[in-house]
Amino acid sequence: MTKRVHSREVETAARTLLAERGVTIPDIAEIVFEMQSPFSPNLTMTECIESVDKVLTKREIQHALLVGIELDILAEKKLLSEPLQAIVEMDEGLFGVDETIALGAVFGYGSIAVTTFGHLDKYKLGIIRKLDTKTNEGVHTFLDDLVASIAANASSRLAHRLRDQEERLSKEEIALNDQEEKIG
Ligand code: MG
Repeated sequence: MTKRVHSREVETAARTLLAERGVTIPDIAEIVFEMQSPFSPNLTMTECIESVDKVLTKREIQHALLVGIELDILAEKKLLSEPLQAIVEMDEGLFGVDETIALGAVFGYGSIAVTTFGHLDKYKLGIIRKLDTKTNEGVHTFLDDLVASIAANASSRLAHRLRDQEERLSKEEIALNDQEEKIG
């Protein structure tokens, strides 16, 4: 039987893959800022970066990243079986499994994450649009949706944290909320 993989290894792999595919945490934080700043005039990029970083500690997100990016890479190397190879490579409009995996990874952050994901899927802000543009080099069929998922989660997380701060929850209470389970 294969040995169970340590969570640290999974997190490192997910973060490394994201970076190798050309997506940085500030890239995603910019989308979060655009989504949340209309609701929070004092919002800073630092808060958005921190929120994206926290979302990347969640196992559900890490697992979705590993699966989706792997399929993008295999399609790039033309290693998938047909007809899946052609479908993923051309980012076939009716495929939808890329959105399904990414959508599955937003449920842990509640309704704001779900509706924000829908918005990002439709309007493709920032780096999402860059990845979705098919003239770009490489296959990013899964990655664009995964980035939307991370941005949506980080937006929702931030909305809830900002409310905690407005309600002047103590530092300890906010820290406790931050130490939530890694299932999100
Ligand atoms: Mg896609």
